[in-house]
Amino acid sequence: MTDLTVIKGIGEKNAKLYAKLGIKTAESALYYFPRDYISYEEISGPHELCADRIVAFEAEIVRRPTLKRVKRLSVVGADMNCGGIHITSTWFNMPYLPSSLKAGSTYVFRGTLTHEGDHYHIRQPQIFTKEQYEELLGRINPVYPLTKGLTNSSVSKTVKKCFEYLDGSYRQELYDMHFPKDEETLKAARNALVFDEFLIFILRLRLMRDKSEKAKDAFGMIETAEAERVIERLPYRLTGAQLRVWNEIKNDLCSPYSMRRLVQGDVGSGKTILAALAAIMTGMNGYQSAIMAPTEILAEQHYHFIRQLLFDNSIDLNPVLLTGSMSASAKRGVREMIEDGSADIIIGTHALFQEKVVYDRLALVVTDEQHRFGVNQRSSLSSKNTESPANVLVMSATPIPRTLAMIVYGDLDISIIDELPAHKKPIKNAVVNESYRNTAYKFFLKEIMAGHQVYVICPLIEESEGNDAKNVIDTAGELSSCFDNSVSVGILHGRMRPADKLKVMDSFARGDINILVSTTVVEVGVNVPNATVMMIENADRFGLAALHQLRGRIGRGEAQSYCIFMSSSTNPDTMKRLDILKNSNDGFKIAEEDLKTRGPGDMFGIRQSGDVSFRLADIYSDAAILKKASDEASAILSKDPDLSAPEHELLRAEVFESGILSELDSTL
Ligand code: ADP
Ligand code: MG
Repeated sequence: MTDLTVIKGIGEKNAKLYAKLGIKTAESALYYFPRDYISYEEISGPHELCADRIVAFEAEIVRRPTLKRVKRLSVVGADMNCGGIHITSTWFNMPYLPSSLKAGSTYVFRGTLTHEGDHYHIRQPQIFTKEQYEELLGRINPVYPLTKGLTNSSVSKTVKKCFEYLDGSYRQELYDMHFPKDEETLKAARNALVFDEFLIFILRLRLMRDKSEKAKDAFGMIETAEAERVIERLPYRLTGAQLRVWNEIKNDLCSPYSMRRLVQGDVGSGKTILAALAAIMTGMNGYQSAIMAPTEILAEQHYHFIRQLLFDNSIDLNPVLLTGSMSASAKRGVREMIEDGSADIIIGTHALFQEKVVYDRLALVVTDEQHRFGVNQRSSLSSKNTESPANVLVMSATPIPRTLAMIVYGDLDISIIDELPAHKKPIKNAVVNESYRNTAYKFFLKEIMAGHQVYVICPLIEESEGNDAKNVIDTAGELSSCFDNSVSVGILHGRMRPADKLKVMDSFARGDINILVSTTVVEVGVNVPNATVMMIENADRFGLAALHQLRGRIGRGEAQSYCIFMSSSTNPDTMKRLDILKNSNDGFKIAEEDLKTRGPGDMFGIRQSGDVSFRLADIYSDAAILKKASDEASAILSKDPDLSAPEHELLRAEVFESGILSELDSTL
């Protein structure tokens, strides 16, 4: 691995910014794929200018641009002349522009013109020299996800330099992902990389299954009265589907073979109680269980839920919480309880297996919301117990059609909870555009007055060059000022410290925050039944499965819930996709429709965040490639069952986690 600072022009300071994006080495830059691609427009002449669509034009800066400060915002204004046509322009938060845009000089500007009185106006246009622009013309140019302090062109240049530095020691397809010469090359490159990603994933699963297949366990569990009593005393009755799956889990735990089961159930189908029951049964049999959640917020929620459940039913088991942000001494205390056997049910995050935890008699590992974990982590915890592999229970809300699930989770038996608790009122959905915003805000207020709470979801954390999607920071500011501080607005995003995230989530759960503005970090499993409204900004930028997961955060209590999909897109395909969500609350149906409507044509939609963690692949739209990779894996393994043949040396390295991809995974 080559440290990024060897690249010319990257110093310590820049390296830190790139590290924020997950680019720590020259190799990892090659895998920092664009989120989209654009082709630049030919330069329009003065008489070809028109409003309301993106144009590029050449214009002279008439006089030195002005700089104004409005509160904390800086606004640069300029007058320009495009072949006799007067255009005014503004840029926000670019206070350095007046010194770099020279009066009398000519540049190429790119953006959307609007009419303002008798002249054109343009907001935040991109600026190029003519040479720069001509270089971009006629090519497909990458658009990267960014962070504050890095522009798209600087990331693009750095990636290119990394390719030059690693001269020839990479696959052509990687280069083509960033700098394709045409659409076809791009598509071929992506398909090849997706295929490999699937192939390695599937080989890992198959080889893992071989190792653990028919593994005998030595636990010899029996059914327990306590778990059954909990079921009887719940404030609700388990659905038929929950009961069926509970029986399957019980049978697995009692059988002499270790359990390897996936429980798939749509958001809100009630998976948590099943995990709790399995842990209680394991505990009453005298063994430990570990419940892993993908976030601290969720781990804490599960912990409180289970502790209360044990208390309400006078069950004498000791639950403990173990998360990364706990103090070192608190963690040490918990680890001691785990090691000496006084902890029965251990609930936590990745810290559970990343840190040196010694279990006393671990017999059950539950992974909640599997799609946030790699397969690797799953296997590493189940092998923590040296004498006998622990029973493995995986909970997933990713609605994968069964045929795909069998490929993706090939090493697991599958249970499906295909029934939602009956009392639930279905969520009411609306797809709206900007003209509805005021009405939406009034509606927020009405719901807040009625004692309910609101989620607002944005695609971005902060403002980002070249991406006009809504961001958390500005949206939260907007909402606060709009409601005149009479409502409390909180923010939540992935770059906050874990402890801060917990604090925000706690105060939202307690009702201290009325409106929570967040990125998709709330997507996973969080349960605040009092939240009844969710508005998703730029809904067209998310995959359907991700939108459905997000929506699952509401509709969890008795009250009617509402989901508002905000989208300014007029693209008929986008509308059709959002209509699927509007008309159905059924995750499986949505996933199937999604497959049908998207097809492989829509390669570059924002990556699904609700899926198994693939770098590039998307199990829905790449379903055909997944199938091919699955067939290829079978063919390879039938000839070379343990990948020991010399021609499989590279493949073997990737599959057994010492290849470049695995190394990247640990740096990302
Ligand atoms: P998920 O499957 O998304 O993890 P949860 O386990 O968080 O769903 O359950 C969602 C909500 O539904 C919780 O508030 C839970 O108490 C409730 N719940 C679970 N099972 C039932 C049921 N059979 N009847 C009524 N409510 C239920
Ligand atoms: Mg859940």
